[in-house]
Amino acid sequence: MTATPHILNELRQTFASHKTRSFEWRRGQLLGLKAMIEENETDILDALHTDLGKSGFESRMSEAGPVLGEISHVVAHLKRWMRPRKVSTPVTNQPGRSMIVAEPLGVALIIAPWNYPFYLTAMPLIGAIAAGNCAILKPSEISPATSKMLARLIPAYLDPAAIRVVEGGVEATTGLLAERFDHIFFTGSESVGKIVMTAAARHLTPVTLELGGKSPCIVEPDCDLELAARRVAWSKFLNAGQTCIAPDYVLAHDTVADELVDRLETSIRAFFGDDPKTSPDYPRLVSDKHFDRVSELMSGATIAVGGETDRAARYIAPTVLTGVDADADIMRQEIFGPLLPVIRYGSIDEAIGFINARPKPLSLYLFSNSAPARDQVLAQTSSGSVCINDAVMQVAVPELPFGGVGASGMGAYHGRASFDTFSHAKSVLTKSEWFDLPLRYPPFSRTKLRWLKRFQ
Ligand code: NAD
Repeated sequence: MTATPHILNELRQTFASHKTRSFEWRRGQLLGLKAMIEENETDILDALHTDLGKSGFESRMSEAGPVLGEISHVVAHLKRWMRPRKVSTPVTNQPGRSMIVAEPLGVALIIAPWNYPFYLTAMPLIGAIAAGNCAILKPSEISPATSKMLARLIPAYLDPAAIRVVEGGVEATTGLLAERFDHIFFTGSESVGKIVMTAAARHLTPVTLELGGKSPCIVEPDCDLELAARRVAWSKFLNAGQTCIAPDYVLAHDTVADELVDRLETSIRAFFGDDPKTSPDYPRLVSDKHFDRVSELMSGATIAVGGETDRAARYIAPTVLTGVDADADIMRQEIFGPLLPVIRYGSIDEAIGFINARPKPLSLYLFSNSAPARDQVLAQTSSGSVCINDAVMQVAVPELPFGGVGASGMGAYHGRASFDTFSHAKSVLTKSEWFDLPLRYPPFSRTKLRWLKRFQ
């Protein structure tokens, strides 16, 4: 017997008491989350190191730090976002006033993956709190140290009557999904996304699906190749490639492909030394299963850089592959590990055709200083986000909604988009009583019709 219905009832009662609606409660919870991070940063970074071998610097840069930044941004804007937004009222509804009121949805379920297990639990939680909701958090069982840390710290800093952590894997999540929530925010794989959406459909619960996919990175000949190689290598090998928006593969123009591979090698050596296995800054694969899947993806390709593996340590070197067949497994599934195929192309049309022949990616990267090339790529491709002359960094702009399109997801969050995702935009029209236009009331006549046509 799962404890879910009992927890859910408690949260429903809290929501029904209206306590989560006030600005003070929302702000207080957000500051509680901030205090939790500031007072327990070492515990948070240790848990991430245990789960993924991430260095303290990397965890601060890509997990704890961005969450603190998001809290500051949301706290600074929350009062304004909560204000009813006036919109114009047409003459047919005069005298009257129209406005949009952001209304909390109720109890949200937030299901997180293991790759940024702290960030991807906390970021949607900020949106849920900001919009005045209760929430159940379900961290990933594949990053158990972070899951335990969240289950211990969240009740100590946030209102336990409104925010709860439920730990567990498929069974626990299946139990949660059987219940009716007011919103489900899921980050994870496309296959589990379908399970979540199917379960949500039974209750007509709206969903946000933050999924993955293969994010391409086009390298045009006119870019600064040294900078491109450094930025691609950084974004690909961050978290050992286990980043949903990492460049999955590179499409390099024929004229620069060989030089790009050389420069990628130089960057990898500059970041992690001659033997990345000994670098304290290079993380590990999350599990044996994941290690096996990613290692097998190398077969059939030419290893241009790296390629070393150690199963006992769940280590796969930062690896650059060439001679990759477009139909190989590595080009059919999301890599989600430190393997970077470099595929050559002859013209920008060819690169765009290659991308458009595949499902819509979560992100698309383009290294180019040519305005026509940029315009063409923006106009002729579809992706959740685009970053030009860098990669991954678009996620760090709070005013840019973050989310996928097509197979890479639906809905978006971060900053104002998070507030909107966890709110219902309630339309409110208030009419005055002092004048009542008789036109709409029967009996109708030709004269009334003439007047009607003037207004419509
Ligand atoms: P996953 O889909 O396997 O798991 C995500 C969550 O779903 C976990 O909490 C897990 O416990 C739960 N889950 C797993 N199987 C389930 C089932 N059968 N029924 C119900 N719940 C289930 O994903 P993952 O392996 O943790 O994460 C990797 C994927 O997530 C990649 O595809 C990656 O691209 C994607 N991702 C996307 C984003 C984004 O922001 N768009 C961010 C990170 C990861």
